[in-house]
Amino acid sequence: MQSNSLIESDRNHLIHPVSAYRAHEKRGATILTRGDGMYLTDSEGHRLLDAFAGLWCVNIGYGQESVVAAAAEQMRQLPYATGYFSFASEPTIRLAERLAELSPPGLNRVYFTLGGSDAVDSAIRFITHYFNATGRPTKKHMIALDKGYHGSSSNGAGITGLPAFHRQFDLPRFWQHHIPAPYPYRSPVGDDPRAVIDLSVAQLRAKVEEIGAENVAAFFAEPVQGSAGVIVPPRGWLKAIRETCRELDILFVVDEVITGFGRTGPLFACETEGVSPDLMTIAKGLTAGYAPMGAVLMSEDVYAGIADGPDNHLPIGHGFTYSGHPVSAAVALEVLSLYLQGGILANGQARAPQLLAGLQALGDHPLVGDIRAAGMLAGLELVRDKAGKTRFDPATQISDRLTTAGYRNGIIFRAFADGTIGLAPALSCTEAEMDILLTRLRQTLDEVVDQPEVRQVL
Ligand code: PMP
Repeated sequence: MQSNSLIESDRNHLIHPVSAYRAHEKRGATILTRGDGMYLTDSEGHRLLDAFAGLWCVNIGYGQESVVAAAAEQMRQLPYATGYFSFASEPTIRLAERLAELSPPGLNRVYFTLGGSDAVDSAIRFITHYFNATGRPTKKHMIALDKGYHGSSSNGAGITGLPAFHRQFDLPRFWQHHIPAPYPYRSPVGDDPRAVIDLSVAQLRAKVEEIGAENVAAFFAEPVQGSAGVIVPPRGWLKAIRETCRELDILFVVDEVITGFGRTGPLFACETEGVSPDLMTIAKGLTAGYAPMGAVLMSEDVYAGIADGPDNHLPIGHGFTYSGHPVSAAVALEVLSLYLQGGILANGQARAPQLLAGLQALGDHPLVGDIRAAGMLAGLELVRDKAGKTRFDPATQISDRLTTAGYRNGIIFRAFADGTIGLAPALSCTEAEMDILLTRLRQTLDEVVDQPEVRQVL
């Protein structure tokens, strides 16, 4: 009864992110009431294994009491402090220092945001300012990957390479460009790693040449393209792109909003290839979803370019009331200590081979076309014809079928519109929980493949 009236209120008042508003009203909300460890409970009492860490963020699992205590203690002592007018609070300073220590070499300066979208948006603004301040005002164009996701801010959504984030909003803007994703399963040069990397580098060079290097400010990329359906570029791609950006005199921005904080194994995915970008955006795993927070990290060179610019006597017109929020910072410090001293990062590294082996065992399933994984981040691309790699017709509503069948089988994952399943379990997942995840995933695929509408098109 209570949940029915909540569903009614939701229908009447709450606008949901990334949803078809009227279709959502018709369907009604699924109300989550509780989280413990790897599990979520809904208002109907269903207990579901969360194989997606909320929205690739709850890397430490639900119900970590030490994080709750850190937030409560900070709220009691000082719930808010502005960063304007040279004010600061202790957790915010400590967190900036810690991130400078832990992030790839050279990223020494930290600007806090509320999440990933405003971290990307801040990066865009800082880059624009940097080239104005260093006397190269023509360098304004920005390039990113097709299918990349860099948030939903007015400018960031145009750096995003997903048409669904462009079409209603007159994006991308004239200064925003995209090159194809390094997508081995569907690359025109096949899945040979060297060939995929060489093609991608050539595409970046060609795009910069087309626009003119004197007009190009930056290239943005995720180390693994999460919202694209977990596209994992070949090992060596990040480094090759980093070197190309340096050679072409454009800034390299790595968006680690999903990949950061152990999701792919190391604390940051850049570490796998020893890459230091000029700027890095982070969010999600920084606070593991227990409080909103993101950040842009920048090199000393970018910082100095801005700080020592010709208008350096004026305040920089970029600020958020909640930049460096002390409660979020206290949460992030505790979350970092759980990753590092509490062993959660190491646990994720230990679980990743089990996840990969379990997914590889699904390779003979009639629906599974491609299996890709980087640590505890994985994608299963489902196809209707393995030899032809043919995608499902949207009319099959494959994504809704997967989500619904998953729910029935007690598992939550991300089902992308093209039928790719995204997995990002908490790094705190135990061996037994991973077994349950893999069993429920197979049950879900078996159930969907048996549906007459799906059988019919196979
Ligand atoms: N960048 C990447 C790589 C992301 O995956 C996301 C969110 N999924 C964002 C930016 C935007 O972050 P937020 O939703 O916190 O604004």
